[in-house]
Amino acid sequence: MHSQAEMIQLSLNFRKRFPFYHNATPMVYLDSAATTQKLDKVVSAVHDFSSKRNASVHRGAYPLANAATKEYERARNEVAHLISANEASEIVFTSGATESINLIANGLDKAQLNGNKILICESEHHANILPWQALAKRLGMQISILKLDRCRRSGLVFTETTFQRWLSQIDDDTAILACAHVSNVLGVIYPVPSLCEQASRVGALSVIDGTQAVAHMLVNVQHIGCDFYVFSGHKMYAPTGVGVCWGKYERLEALSPSKLGGEMVSKVSFSGYTAQPPPLKFEAGTPNILGVIGLREAARFIRENTQDIQAHETQLLGYTLAKLKALSINCFSYSSVRSDERAEHSHIGIISFVPIDVDSDALAHSLYAKDIALRYGQHCAMPLVDALGMKACLRISLACYNTQADIDQFVDALERAINELKSLANSDQLEPQDAENAWEQHLKDANNWSEKHRQLLLLSKQLPSLPNALRNKDSEVHGCEAQVWLKKQGDTLCAHSDSKTVRGILAVLLLKHQALASADRKRFDYSQYLRELGLENYFSAGRKDGIRNIINRLEQGA
Ligand code: PLP
Repeated sequence: MHSQAEMIQLSLNFRKRFPFYHNATPMVYLDSAATTQKLDKVVSAVHDFSSKRNASVHRGAYPLANAATKEYERARNEVAHLISANEASEIVFTSGATESINLIANGLDKAQLNGNKILICESEHHANILPWQALAKRLGMQISILKLDRCRRSGLVFTETTFQRWLSQIDDDTAILACAHVSNVLGVIYPVPSLCEQASRVGALSVIDGTQAVAHMLVNVQHIGCDFYVFSGHKMYAPTGVGVCWGKYERLEALSPSKLGGEMVSKVSFSGYTAQPPPLKFEAGTPNILGVIGLREAARFIRENTQDIQAHETQLLGYTLAKLKALSINCFSYSSVRSDERAEHSHIGIISFVPIDVDSDALAHSLYAKDIALRYGQHCAMPLVDALGMKACLRISLACYNTQADIDQFVDALERAINELKSLANSDQLEPQDAENAWEQHLKDANNWSEKHRQLLLLSKQLPSLPNALRNKDSEVHGCEAQVWLKKQGDTLCAHSDSKTVRGILAVLLLKHQALASADRKRFDYSQYLRELGLENYFSAGRKDGIRNIINRLEQGA
């Protein structure tokens, strides 16, 4: 048990290890489930290798190349050590968890599978859904969902009842169990050892997605008892573009390689090839050597600090939840979740939430403007977010470098943002209410996103609203990371969105459209106009696609 003072010191010691924090930044980074900041030793190992020891691996026989191969293979040992693999040859380097899951799903055939059912947990990331859908189609199998339980107060929950139901679903017809170790939205640690034990009892393969687990807790694949375990380097302080597919050696031997090319073969002729044994049989082409070198350092750091990382993040999670509770934020991921007696802790530091009485999208934008880096959207887990009955939610995710001061700053920004949005909702006038089209000038003059966003929210009230009855498939515009409907009513274009920020953007476009002479409307460059108003930079790529669709409709007269 650490004292409060020791915990604070611990977090500061961790923070020092991340160059991102060496230059004073006002940014509170709470998006580590998307990607983590990079460890000092990762950065220096990548730099040193590139500048002093660079050579390709598994190819040349000259000393530099041999040394590079040794370093690369030492990384395999280090990663094997991190997750307690039996041997380094069970570690396949990939470009990330997505490639790892595809590698497994694409390499399977009927002969390796008992049963006809692929069981997928309801909260999976798309990376752990789509490859299984493709496999089901290829081999004529069924997808079956391990559903969470519904709870009126907190959305979806994983309880003892859920757990028992899942166990009973893993039956003789189950060929594959695909489940995350930790949900990237709910932060729940699933009891994967028990689920894998049941899978093994019925002869099913178990594939565990450890992407959100490895940086935060002890991972021991022997203890979990799975057949495959996958994760990404960039979510564990290592570079992007590198990841791991661990498999029991005999499972890897049975799997067909789906990526073919150099270095994965021992013999090639124009009539065929003989593959190398695992892991090289899956590493066709020149690998991401720098990524692997960086991953080695990250793996060592996590292995040497697992206990402290876990203690610190658990304490910080408790601190955050207590602060959010005081604000009465509806954190749907946190009530009545089963505390798993098989795991030491039941959650990692991922909190997804939707605020009560405040537009979530507007809140996210308001927080970005207050230097809080968090994620808003569906988190590549659309089936889960749909099941929660919402379009999107906010998510903060912690890592070892976060401190209580980060949380204080976040909660303070959250409180201010909520208050600002509530007071904006209560004022129904554009400010100042002066000349016609003054809003255009106000938007241009606003010199930061906070002010521009505020103008957009005010402007959202000027949007000619599309009546409920006309919000249908015909009027729907896709993209925008929100629902949007747009349709002409008489001479007026009317629109609606469930996001206030998007209603503001729609208002900008529709008011401009309305102000133009009808002959000019088709020729007008709306994208350039948004750029001139200084709005473009603040939209995500997804939202930009949606805005493009709105503009297309405007150009066609909706
Ligand atoms: N699985 C989970 C649980 C994730 O959170 C993610 C990414 O967010 C992935 C898989 C995919 O990881 P990557 O994009 O690094 O391949």
